[in-house]
This record gives sequence, structure tokens and C-alpha cells, in this order.
Amino acid sequence: MKEQCENCRFWKRPEAQAEKDAGNCRRYAPRPWGSGYVGVDIHEDESIERKLYSIAMWPTTYGHEWCGDWQKK
Ligand code: SF4
Repeated sequence: MKEQCENCRFWKRPEAQAEKDAGNCRRYAPRPWGSGYVGVDIHEDESIERKLYSIAMWPTTYGHEWCGDWQKK
């Protein structure tokens, strides 16, 4: 068995993944991604409130990739 992501116990391929060869490494907790996301709330009085959200994501890897933390499923 090749020691690569698709055979690693920490790798999960989301059902809705756009790229079939890609999945998420869940070796560690999700990590902050980018500098934030700006959302907009429009209130009943038509005032606009901008909000800054932080986003955390699982790292995405391809099935053929690997790292030194690989473990058998
Ligand atoms: S990056 Fe490393 S720990 Fe994560 S799924 Fe791939 S081999 Fe496993």
C-alpha cells in the first residue's frame, strides 16, 4: 500500500467535492483561511451592516499526495 493521502486514516473525501481526486486532511483541527470574509446584513430600515467573519477550513490535498504524518487506515 502506498503511503499517500487516499490511504491515510486522516483523509476524507467530501461527498460534494468538486474535484474527484481532492479530499480533506483531518490530521489537525481546521485552520484559519485567508484574512476573513465580509458579510452584509440588510436591515428592515434598509441600513447596511458589514461584518467580518473568520473562516477555518480543513486543508485540501489530492489523493496522490502525502506527508510525514501518514497513518494506515
Ligand atoms: S496530508 Fe498527511 S496526514 Fe493528511 S491525509 Fe495526507 S498523508 Fe495523511
